[in-house]
Amino acid sequence: MPTVYFGSAKQRKLTASDTLPAKLDLILDRLKIRERVSKKVVAIKMHLGGNVGYSTIHPVFVRKVVQAVKDGGGKPFVTDTSGACLTAPNRGYTTETLGCPIYPVGGPGEKNFKTISRPFKNIAEWRLGEVLLEADFLINFAHVKGHPSCGFGALFKNLALGAMMGKTRGDIHDTQHFDPYFFPDKLAALPGNGRAIEQIMAACPHEALIRDKDNPRLLHLHFDNCNQCKRCEAVAGGALKISPVNFAAFIEANAIAVRIVLDHFPDGNAVFLSLANQLTPVCDCFGFTGPSILPDVGVFGGDDIVATEQAMLDEVGKCRLIAENVPEVMEVQPGAGHPFQQLHGPFKDPYLVTEYGEKLGLGSREYELVDVTAGSAGQFMPPITAAGL
Ligand code: SF4
Repeated sequence: MPTVYFGSAKQRKLTASDTLPAKLDLILDRLKIRERVSKKVVAIKMHLGGNVGYSTIHPVFVRKVVQAVKDGGGKPFVTDTSGACLTAPNRGYTTETLGCPIYPVGGPGEKNFKTISRPFKNIAEWRLGEVLLEADFLINFAHVKGHPSCGFGALFKNLALGAMMGKTRGDIHDTQHFDPYFFPDKLAALPGNGRAIEQIMAACPHEALIRDKDNPRLLHLHFDNCNQCKRCEAVAGGALKISPVNFAAFIEANAIAVRIVLDHFPDGNAVFLSLANQLTPVCDCFGFTGPSILPDVGVFGGDDIVATEQAMLDEVGKCRLIAENVPEVMEVQPGAGHPFQQLHGPFKDPYLVTEYGEKLGLGSREYELVDVTAGSAGQFMPPITAAGL
């Protein structure tokens, strides 16, 4: 059973040694990063965010990983999509602050990629950023947050979308539209004097339904906006189906993309780190940061992407949404399951990606969670007594 190392965001002592960067160091030790990277070129895949977002992984954490690689005699570089890399200095990511260079995964114009043929729904081929192929070892270092397409983003999404070129990123999103969900032949039976399509759109409180830009007689569903409340189905008379299959397609495509990336890092040449702090409701690519919708949970590390993602989801799942921090436009569904489902809807099941990952041979959903601070002495405050006041 794979081991997942964990450092809690909770502090027992008011010392730097009991904080997340120190716990990340302990995880790097347990994963034996230094011993594994000697003379290797090491890609550190991150999400460097966009615009004025400030909740991506802070350089303090990145430097810990970079230093461990250097200590072990490896040659690290940080990589992400072209857009995120080219604007990274605006958010504090530079060679000076991180301690290593930053390279766009497919070059500045995303013209350097390897094409892999693996048909899935609308996707015929996948374009993988060639910079990753320069590396002998991969450290997938992901920030955990909510995500409107699939409920959350972390290890799988960081590689699946972040290692591919824009064309493939678009294709992955389009998988949600592959299976039909609008059946216009059913419109004629609806009341409304030919205005049924307007009535269906008007039933959605989240602006998830618009007319298709290429054919205005058809409906287009913005899956990111849809929380599967099904108010639209109640007036659509079978002309619109909000079905799990469309949502699951995006998630399965993520798992396939990760399989393609990790095929290039066999024999233990990949490790997985995720930082669950500043958990915002939507992806870092939105380019802004709002209040956290969940408490900080901690830092996770393992050699098995499925196990490490599953462990993170289990720990985050023990938390309650911070209701006062949820943006007004979002509608929380308290009975929907995992907190990420409560926020983004029941069909955006966060555990689907680990299920697909396990089926693709990427790892195990069973794991042993090891707290890297277990056994260390806590320093608790002495009780305040009347005499002490
Ligand atoms: S299920 Fe709800 S959120 Fe989704 S399109 Fe229908 S009305 Fe809008």
